[in-house]
Parts: sequence; structure tokens; C-alpha cells
Amino acid sequence: MPQKKPPEKKTTAKGPVTAGRTRKDLERLFSAKGLTDFRWLDARDIVVAEWVRMKCLFGCPDYGKNAACPPNTPPVETCARFFREYKRAVVFRFAKTVDKPEDRHPWSRKLNLQLLEVEAEVFKAGFVKAFLLPMDSCNYCLDCAGVRAACKQLKLSRPSPDAMAMDVYATVRKIGYPIRVLAGYDEEMNRYAFLLVD
Ligand code: SF4
Repeated sequence: MPQKKPPEKKTTAKGPVTAGRTRKDLERLFSAKGLTDFRWLDARDIVVAEWVRMKCLFGCPDYGKNAACPPNTPPVETCARFFREYKRAVVFRFAKTVDKPEDRHPWSRKLNLQLLEVEAEVFKAGFVKAFLLPMDSCNYCLDCAGVRAACKQLKLSRPSPDAMAMDVYATVRKIGYPIRVLAGYDEEMNRYAFLLVD
């Protein structure tokens, strides 16, 4: 008996349709939230490296003090496997010069909260795997709990890309974004947040 052909999966020229939302719809959503400097990234181009984790273990004064950073994030190999579960990501760029180094914290806190709203919207649009890697280490609380289970804002906190062992330098250069080590905070910073989509 002839088998009925299964219905073909709907796609657009720029990617699959999820819950009726296309890539263009997401781009409109980002723009509506005031996020206009972004680029799509093939998630297979995310570079994960052991050296990034080593920099957390040795040299970072906050090691063991942030509940969204190592050692509260998964081992490097698990991070790599996590990224391999995604096909597409969006990279948001934020350029800024600050008067005083400490000014960067309220600036990044505000933007990361805005990005969390975008993560929630993308999730509600049907992209159930939507996951944000904010552009800075979690700093919502003045006094971080330091331990994942004791985090004071479990629903809000997310690991930064480098806390997930991402080599942000190598990754954003693949899509032509600028990044370099700065000589001081009086130079313009380029900060990057990643939204893993699906
Ligand atoms: S939400 Fe607060 S307690 Fe949790 S990781 Fe961020 S700063 Fe630490």
C-alpha cells in the first residue's frame, strides 16, 4: 500500500519558520527593543577554548566569588557540547567609552536586563531553546552569593560568554566585528552579548 508522503517542513530562504516567526520577525523584535547593532552567527562558529577557563582559574580576582562564573559553570567540554546543540545565534555589539571604570557596571546591568527581556520574547515566539549569554559577568547584586544554589536572582542570572569558555575574540572576528585588548578604560570598549536561538 502506498505510503502518504509526510508534509514538508516549512522554511524560508533565511531559515526555518518557528511558531510562525521568521528571522526577519526576530530582527524587528530586536530593533523594537532598541538593539540595532547585531549580526547572525552560525553557532558552529562559536570557538570554545581551554585557555579561556584557565584565565578564570588563574588571574581573575573574582574566581569563586560570582555565582554565574566558574567554578559555578559547567566543565569546558560540557560548554562545548551545549553550544553544539544550537544552529543559530545572534551577536549584539555594544560600544562605549566610560569616564570612570566603575561606570561600566550600571551600564552593562541595564543592558543585560534589556537583553533578558529579548530572550523572554524570543522564547515566547516559539524558540524554546533561547538562551542569553550577557555581555558582562553577572552583577545584579552588590554582594554576590558566590555559589550557584545560593544565587539571589536565579531567574535573572546567566553566565557570560567567557564564563562558558567561549573565546569571544576569535568568535566575533569570524563575523567581522572589532575586538582588541584595550590599554585603558578611556578607550572605546566593544562588548558582546550572545543570544542562542535554536
Ligand atoms: S544574581 Fe546576584 S547572586 Fe546571582 S550570580 Fe548575579 S550577582 Fe551573584
